[in-house]
Amino acid sequence: MRCEEFYTEYDYSGTKDEFIDRRTFGPKPNYPNVRAYKRPTDFISPMVIAGPCQIESPEQVEKIATGLRSMGIKYMRGGVFSAGTYPGDNFGLDYERLKYFSEIAKSKGMMPVIEVFDPRQVEIVAHYASVLQVGARAMQNYALLNEVSKKDKWVTLKRSPSATLDEFLGAAEYLARGDAKPILVERGGASSHNHIRYELSVSMIAAIKQMTDMPVLVDASHGSGRRDLVPALTLAGIAAGADGCIVECHPDPDNAKGADYIQTINMDTMGDLSKKISVIHREAK
Ligand code: PEP
Ligand code: MN
Repeated sequence: MRCEEFYTEYDYSGTKDEFIDRRTFGPKPNYPNVRAYKRPTDFISPMVIAGPCQIESPEQVEKIATGLRSMGIKYMRGGVFSAGTYPGDNFGLDYERLKYFSEIAKSKGMMPVIEVFDPRQVEIVAHYASVLQVGARAMQNYALLNEVSKKDKWVTLKRSPSATLDEFLGAAEYLARGDAKPILVERGGASSHNHIRYELSVSMIAAIKQMTDMPVLVDASHGSGRRDLVPALTLAGIAAGADGCIVECHPDPDNAKGADYIQTINMDTMGDLSKKISVIHREAK
């Protein structure tokens, strides 16, 4: 039995704006800069960002950077701070790791992609990073977005696990109205499934491509939590129109630091995947 009081037939009539008004409970979507966005010519697709979840040592950076360079990958990712779902010891930004990651990666011809999570640290992280990252849990930290927006840099903005398309684009608007050049990252959302940690939304990628020229990347590592699914889901995102990807990789995933070892692929798998990304990306254009 259904409750007639709450049940309404879905109404597809009227213009797109009228449809949006009907389906929105909160404020009306408002992201003019995202809609009008014209991609700067220095964005080269596919943008492949690969590397470990956590930066562990200068030797690790050198080894991974050398491996990625031999695959033709130009962007290396790596966490230089500790944070967690539950509080622990030694949390915060590790300046030593920040500095050696940036210096060694650059010396190997790689551009470091580094997450910033505290508005007070945007200046120092921006000094060392070629690309700034705003993490999924910080997507709606508007103080952080405002600080990051002052930097004339590419910024990977990860979708919060609970964010809708409108909330995601709203967060991007904070960056786009400043000097920053946002890159949207679909990294999966909360789901009732128990075969994965987060569920990658391929529809999010395809829908974003209809609405804006802003680059969008697929992150199937966080978007599944399973290394065996990472290649297939990365390629699914590229086939849906993603302009590149973020992939967690490590020479010895089982001994990688942090909880994300479970979604981290090895360097050989990364090499295979990188070749397939080029093929699918070319076909999907
Ligand atoms: C990460 O990139 O390692 C990370 C923590 O990602 P997210 O913010 O998507 O969870
Ligand atoms: Mn990670």
